[in-house]
Amino acid sequence: MKSLWKNEEAEGFSKDPLQLRVYTSRLLGANPDLVLHGGGNTSVKLSQKNFFGETEELLLVKGSGWDLATIESPGFAPVRLETLKRLAELETLSDSEMVRQQRAAMTDPGAPNPSVEAILHALIPFRYVDHTHADAVLAVTNHPDGEQSIQEIYGPRVIVIPYVMPGFVLAKKVRELTQNKNWSDYEGMILMNHGIFTFDDDAQESYEKMIELVTLAENFLKDRKALDSLARAESEEDLQKLSLIRREVSRIRREPVYAQLDSTAEACGFANLKNINELALRGPMTSDHLARTKPEPLIINNDIEKDVSLYARNYDDYFRRNTDGSQEILDLAPRWAVWPGYGLVSYGRSLNDSKVVRDIVSHTARAIQIGEALGRWEPIAEKHIFEAEYWELQRAKMESFKQSPEFQGKIALVTGAASGIGLACACEFVREGAAVTGLDLNADVENILDRDEMLGVACDITDSGAVSNAVDETVRRFGGLDILVLNAGTFPAGKLIEDLDDQTWDKSIEINLKSQQRILKTCIPFLKQGVDPAVVFVASRNVPAPGPGASAYSVPKAGQTQLARIAALELGQFGIRVNVLHPDCVYDTGLWTKETLERSAGRYGLTVEEYKSRNVLKSDVKSHEVAKMVCTMAGSVFAKTTGAQIPIDGGSDRVI
Ligand code: ZN
Repeated sequence: MKSLWKNEEAEGFSKDPLQLRVYTSRLLGANPDLVLHGGGNTSVKLSQKNFFGETEELLLVKGSGWDLATIESPGFAPVRLETLKRLAELETLSDSEMVRQQRAAMTDPGAPNPSVEAILHALIPFRYVDHTHADAVLAVTNHPDGEQSIQEIYGPRVIVIPYVMPGFVLAKKVRELTQNKNWSDYEGMILMNHGIFTFDDDAQESYEKMIELVTLAENFLKDRKALDSLARAESEEDLQKLSLIRREVSRIRREPVYAQLDSTAEACGFANLKNINELALRGPMTSDHLARTKPEPLIINNDIEKDVSLYARNYDDYFRRNTDGSQEILDLAPRWAVWPGYGLVSYGRSLNDSKVVRDIVSHTARAIQIGEALGRWEPIAEKHIFEAEYWELQRAKMESFKQSPEFQGKIALVTGAASGIGLACACEFVREGAAVTGLDLNADVENILDRDEMLGVACDITDSGAVSNAVDETVRRFGGLDILVLNAGTFPAGKLIEDLDDQTWDKSIEINLKSQQRILKTCIPFLKQGVDPAVVFVASRNVPAPGPGASAYSVPKAGQTQLARIAALELGQFGIRVNVLHPDCVYDTGLWTKETLERSAGRYGLTVEEYKSRNVLKSDVKSHEVAKMVCTMAGSVFAKTTGAQIPIDGGSDRVI
């Protein structure tokens, strides 16, 4: 492991201990073998003048909700050191009381809650304290003879603390075991099955000790060739199954989740291990991950519905075996899955959640194999796992992430998404929590919809291969498909039937009708496995109220409507709702140029202004208003509606 310390970077902070603390915290956070997503914590002890000018001794410790990789100085909570030390002397201290007392001892009520390890940081008599859950240390300590190996690696250089629950209990244990020790005799502290601490009065020294001690553990693994044991395998792909598993996991969880398949050779190699059915169930790398990963993954064999139900039953049993009656059971769904032949799948109610799980799981898969190569991978016992998983402070951390917009966890595909109504729909779905794939003939869509939860795909919808690839890409990226919005279309120049050339007619039928059928057909197998699936056709007011000269546009739109009505009949048995929206007077889209407006107005003998306000409400309709209606029709308001045609046109006296 390499030190990332750079004198020229650190120089600017040398006079400011808190800035140095920020700097080395970020260095730790930058190495995923040391710290993963919100893991680890650091602190610095400082004398600061309070509001009244009196000097106080403070511990500035990582606040909860901050990530070491990106932490800034406001991410450190200032707590009076004396109070923390006195708390450590108490016989017992409940979690809620610990949180209250720590908050009460803060000199800035606006600062975040101090880390759950604040008391432990306070006890360590050095200015800088660094704590990580380093992979190499965990691989060595999650072992029946872990302590012996730690002795072999470090000898008397470190204090060794057997596993106890993090928080107050751990702080007390450390206090008890170090009472007769001189901290200056040690360079670090190993917490069995948990992680490592280093400390020094100098920020760089404390950081470098972390690097050095973890490197020693890595060398130990190298010497024993434990790193050579990582399995690798080619993976297959089955998007249909991937989306079915996601549906089942969402069903058990009672909310839609995203699914991300890690099909790298390493992930697949791990999933294919012969004893994976038993090995993967032994437990987590560190209890810190439990709130993200749960104790065990789902193991996928052949019957997916049965596998997921079995997981739920086992989780329920585990809870009942361990609860003292004071806890409330979490949902029964897995957070990740081992899928032999395919790789590892992670689930999350947000894309970020599923990514965090994926990263944790990929490090876990490595550590497990390394542990096995050392003799045996053996994490903490089940009662400790339960105690940590249901620790109210961990839970509180997770609960704070909860907020549920309508489409959280859902996956939508929108056609014609580079501009106008389609773009407005894509943005509205994302604003409401969904992940969206947007298709468009215009390749700019790839840049316009380029965010984690937005995938833009340049796609000619008349090309069935391209459509099929785009749908596959959606499932590959997000895990399934729940919502289809058929919006793409062209608006051919208006002509009387007797003047209409075959080419214009054929092209409009191809794009506005045949392609819509093709996209729908391609999506149906995935929609059948969707969570509360819905299809919305964006047709036209021209369907119920056609105008002269627009046959090339109106006829395929009428065909779409009929297609939707039949689809509603065919797909109702799978819970798929199919509805049609008939917009009109939407003048802020690319369809309406100055010329088309003038031409259309002319056909009715109206000026453009008269034409634009010719509806009952005398109002035009904005793209974003259409998008809101599309979302409403795809959402819970329309849960019991299918086969319906809804106008959004300011009211047409020819339809009313
Ligand atoms: Zn920890």
